[in-house]
Amino acid sequence: MSGFVEKPEPVEVPGLQHLHTGKVRDLYRNERGELVMVASDRISAYDWVLPTEIPEKGKILTQLSLWWFDLLADLVPNHVLSSELPPGAPADWEGRTLVCRSLRMVPVECVARGYLTGSGLAEYRETRTVCGIALPEGLTDGSELPSPIFTPATKAAVGEHDENVAYEEVAHRVGAEPAAQLRQATLAVYNRAREIARARGIILADTKFEFGYAEATLGAESAEPVLADEVLTPDSSRFWPADQWEPGRAQPSFDKQYVRDWLTSPASGWDRGGEQPPPPLPAEVVERTRAKYAEAYELLTGTSWK
Ligand code: ATP
Ligand code: MG
Repeated sequence: MSGFVEKPEPVEVPGLQHLHTGKVRDLYRNERGELVMVASDRISAYDWVLPTEIPEKGKILTQLSLWWFDLLADLVPNHVLSSELPPGAPADWEGRTLVCRSLRMVPVECVARGYLTGSGLAEYRETRTVCGIALPEGLTDGSELPSPIFTPATKAAVGEHDENVAYEEVAHRVGAEPAAQLRQATLAVYNRAREIARARGIILADTKFEFGYAEATLGAESAEPVLADEVLTPDSSRFWPADQWEPGRAQPSFDKQYVRDWLTSPASGWDRGGEQPPPPLPAEVVERTRAKYAEAYELLTGTSWK
């Protein structure tokens, strides 16, 4: 079982058409045909959108994304048009709303990995490969890879796992030229971000990007992928404190660790493999998780959150 414990109702704002309620973001279209992306405080874990929100999470992740988009703008174009509130929007949307170019999204999650863990590690243990890329012997959980690799995945519906696929499968789905562009852009952005994070004491172990193409450029020789969605946040990336990095075990991380630990502890009373949705989070887990998101923001950007 999986999905939303309680699916939220979209907010009604004059001039905005509700398009989609994602796991974390709500999408609207404005009268100019642009996308209005509102990051909620929802949090997902173990394929469930939990019944408890993490206050300010959507604002922290939106501001962190914006910070990265700016830093990366010379490498790759992005979808952000402005962070102005649409007229008539609730005050609480301030800081969590981005007006974006509406793109034709590439149906592939563009993942870069510089370290081995998660689904990459699972595949490596079976076949010594990740997404079909051969890796050396002797790597373990948290090992640094000889060089960063592009490990695309197909996007799954809410409640289902993304599936890692070989590069050839991406080329088959989107075409050879776009696939090459996506791999190049993914690795270029990862490499830049990894250097920046490392200088601030954070290992960017891996990250997921979503790209789209402007409708008008589709099929054109000059078409280039535009970086969309959110970028380089704890929701889309694995950030590890560099001073605690120790291959051979699971690494501490700047994300949902407290949430996952609590949900799988006896205290939650929840059976991860069962039919029941997860229970509400206790206040302490909420606060510690909020503090982790704020800490990631502060370490990376070098500015205080509040
Ligand atoms: P799903 O939409 O399948 O529920 P999700 O749970 O990841 O996926 P969110 O991340 O909460 O959803 O919502 C963001 C959605 O907006 C994603 O489907 C993403 O692909 C899409 N998206 C992001 N940027 C753009 C853009 N510029 N143009 C069109 N769609 C976009
Ligand atoms: Mg998403």
